[in-house]
Amino acid sequence: MGHVPNIDLTTDVAIPQLGFGVFQVPPAETKEAVATALRVGYRSIDTAAIYGNERQVGEAIAESGIARDELFITTKLWNSEQGYDTTLAAFDASMEKLGLEQLDLYLIHWPVPERDHYLDTWRAFEKLHADGRVRAIGVSNFTEEHLQRLMDSADVKPAINQVELHPRFQQSKLRAFHAEHGIATEAWGPLGQGTLLDHPVLSKIAEKHGRSTAQVMIRWHLQIGNVVIPKSVTPARIEQNFAVFDFELDGEDLDAIASLDDENGRIGPDPTTFNVV
Ligand code: NAD
Repeated sequence: MGHVPNIDLTTDVAIPQLGFGVFQVPPAETKEAVATALRVGYRSIDTAAIYGNERQVGEAIAESGIARDELFITTKLWNSEQGYDTTLAAFDASMEKLGLEQLDLYLIHWPVPERDHYLDTWRAFEKLHADGRVRAIGVSNFTEEHLQRLMDSADVKPAINQVELHPRFQQSKLRAFHAEHGIATEAWGPLGQGTLLDHPVLSKIAEKHGRSTAQVMIRWHLQIGNVVIPKSVTPARIEQNFAVFDFELDGEDLDAIASLDDENGRIGPDPTTFNVV
């Protein structure tokens, strides 16, 4: 995995700390974007059934010539497929599209509390894990309450929780809960989905280091221990977002970024009320 550090998910599975996300990448552009990311050196790719581009991710992987065990592929179960049997079928459908025998990480995309199927869904995840079809299982957009309820009935603990997390929404309480329970934290929308690129505080830090604000944000995620999966379809940006291992933010920079946290800084849906299927 080159110079990208790994974060342990279980005793025998580790995820590269920096990966490449493909949310909102149109299928027609996905193969090229993933191929570029793999050429640049990314080895972890984050997709989801609902993104509609698993097949193109699979094509890029197949054509890359990179050994399967050097890659780390994540996909996610969409809300409408939650439930035991539906999860098993949805997993097969995703694997057919990805063209893979074994998945590295499967995530429940959202808890969807109104439907209340995530415990049954998790039982199916545990079966897929026990059968060796997926190396690690986790969740996305789970709150502390959802995680606690899941862990109270689970045999296998979620290895990771992928949540909205960026300088304006730092999720400190949830990160502490993860740390306490040995759950890795993965940041989606790590650049604030593009909304923080011109932030004056980040611009000042970027100027000081001769870097871009995107690089400063990615570096911040790495230094506070998050797994991070920025997205871009522009080759120069894909490359720039990977060139973050030759500088370091200092204490003053980290304090300045800590001060940007805002409890109302959420951009995406609130998992406690998001019940779209
Ligand atoms: P992001 O924070 O990665 O921001 C992406 C935006 O920033 C894009 O518009 C891109 O053009 C711009 N950008 C990227 N690099 C740049 C650079 N160097 N300079 C200037 N602009 C740059 O937002 P995201 O795509 O929403 O999140 C990343 C990944 O997280 C997604 O692709 C997806 O894989 C995952 N995700 C998961 C969920 C979930 O519910 N689990 C939700 C959203 C995203």
